[in-house]
Amino acid sequence: MLQALEGDHVHLSADQVHAAARRVVPEVSLATVYNTLNELVDMGELGEVRLGDGTARYDPKTGPDHHHLICTGCGLIYDVEPAGVEGLILPRSQRFGMAVRSVEVVFRGRCSNCAEHD
Ligand SMILES: [Zn+2]
Ligand SMILES: [Zn+2]
Repeated sequence: MLQALEGDHVHLSADQVHAAARRVVPEVSLATVYNTLNELVDMGELGEVRLGDGTARYDPKTGPDHHHLICTGCGLIYDVEPAGVEGLILPRSQRFGMAVRSVEVVFRGRCSNCAEHD
């Protein structure tokens, strides 16, 4: 299952991981795929990108300084390296007592393919 999640800019839905896993293990169920994905996310082996429409994409790139550019039309996701993130500061009054560990910035837009069909 993990081979399906290797490479750059790979952000697969659970359905896509399921389809890939079935090519290797035809009887694997979607529930098993979900359980495995959730375990990997819990262990920090896999990143989870919430698309805002209730669905998630799974991402082999984990760790801090991992930002995304998302097409609101088709859900295409790129890993991006925005400028200026290093300078982002959450003032103490805005931390609500939390120890901040990482920042994730999400840019949303339309890919050229979707813009064409607008
Ligand atoms: Zn698009
Ligand atoms: Zn990513």
